[in-house]
Amino acid sequence: MNRAAAEIQEEIARTKKHLDLLEVALHRLQNECNHTFEGNEYYQICVKCRLTKVLYY
Ligand SMILES: [Zn+2]
Repeated sequence: MNRAAAEIQEEIARTKKHLDLLEVALHRLQNECNHTFEGNEYYQICVKCRLTKVLYY
């Protein structure tokens, strides 16, 4: 097996795992947030946790 390819695959796997952890941490923060939304009638973002809401009318 190509050693460089194996190292790249390992790095991808590590990075994906890290990304999962970051998303879990962000979602936990957003679930616990007492949101303060700013924006307009189409798109709002919480100034505290960056949660975004896209509004469809
Ligand atoms: Zn929030």
